Amino acid sequence: MPARILDGQALAARIQQQEIKPQVADFTAAHGRPPGLAIVLVGNDPASEVYVGHKLKAGQAIGFRVDLERLPATSSLSEVLALVERLNQSDVHDGILVQSPLPKAMGAGAASRVFDTVAIEKDVDGFAPASVGLMVQGRPAFVACTPAGVMELLAREHVTLAGRRAVVIGRSDIVGKPVAMLLLQRDATVTVCHSKTPNLAEVCREADILVAAVGRPGLVTKDFVKPGATVIDVGINTITDAAAASRLYPDGHKRLLKFQERGSMLVGDVHPEVAEVAGALTPVPGGIGPLTITMLMLNTLKAARARAGR
Ligand code: NDP
Repeated sequence: MPARILDGQALAARIQQQEIKPQVADFTAAHGRPPGLAIVLVGNDPASEVYVGHKLKAGQAIGFRVDLERLPATSSLSEVLALVERLNQSDVHDGILVQSPLPKAMGAGAASRVFDTVAIEKDVDGFAPASVGLMVQGRPAFVACTPAGVMELLAREHVTLAGRRAVVIGRSDIVGKPVAMLLLQRDATVTVCHSKTPNLAEVCREADILVAAVGRPGLVTKDFVKPGATVIDVGINTITDAAAASRLYPDGHKRLLKFQERGSMLVGDVHPEVAEVAGALTPVPGGIGPLTITMLMLNTLKAARARAGR
């Protein structure tokens, strides 16, 4: 039996429309202003433009104030830090998100410097070290949006975590590590894999819940997956290479036909053949991506309430 598709798009729309939108309206009526989010975009990385566009559109559609603060790619780190400092002081912005990646010319430590500067009460991306520390200790904190989206989906789909084996592929600060920590807090027994993990497929086959956050199209094939496992595909990869596309989809498949028309497509880290063995699987697109945006909205609402209550 093919895997049940965990439709993140539909779940995100439901949470945004039925749960967040009315709460945003209540907040706006009570405080005379909507919850506000500032998005800082430095330069014009095409993928970032797309992500930021989605965040703006989704936030504004459900009643948030969302302001895009652009800086040119040639900006210095101190200009970015000055903008973040100004937003820290802003009365109308409850949340601040600095879109990654920053231009390479800013240097290797730039992102950390910026995340260190965001006021903790406005850190709706959950990347500031203080937010991460609180999250690791299981104390109230802003949890990074993609890991929070993974957990929300698992909870809403009633996937049992306590006592189950979870394997996370990827150990980045923004996805792999926080997902692993959150699964651990929900009493899963967690293994974290990375590029130096030997026998990756064998380790992954032990998982009842397998989370792929790697950035390698189709890395996770059938032989990585225990029959019946829940597979969460966090990867978002744009492929433009016809050979890569035909390694993922058979001739005549509708996604391959669309690829031939457009010359590119978005795919995850999980090979589509995994649907033949997994019990449940998130699609790409339409899986964790829309939930990431939803969690950003929830974090912004939470930040607005906390600031208004002070
Ligand atoms: P990073 O590049 O920061 O981390 C990738 C991780 O994958 C690293 O830990 C790396 O290991 C590991 N890795 C790389 N190659 C292999 C391999 N062959 N076998 C095993 N592990 C490997 O990526 P991110 O965590 O930022 O993002 C991961 C994916 O998730 C990307 O596709 C990204 O676009 C997507 N993403 C999706 C979001 C969403 O909203 N759905 C949000 C954020 C990211 P090592 O540490 O050893 O280098």
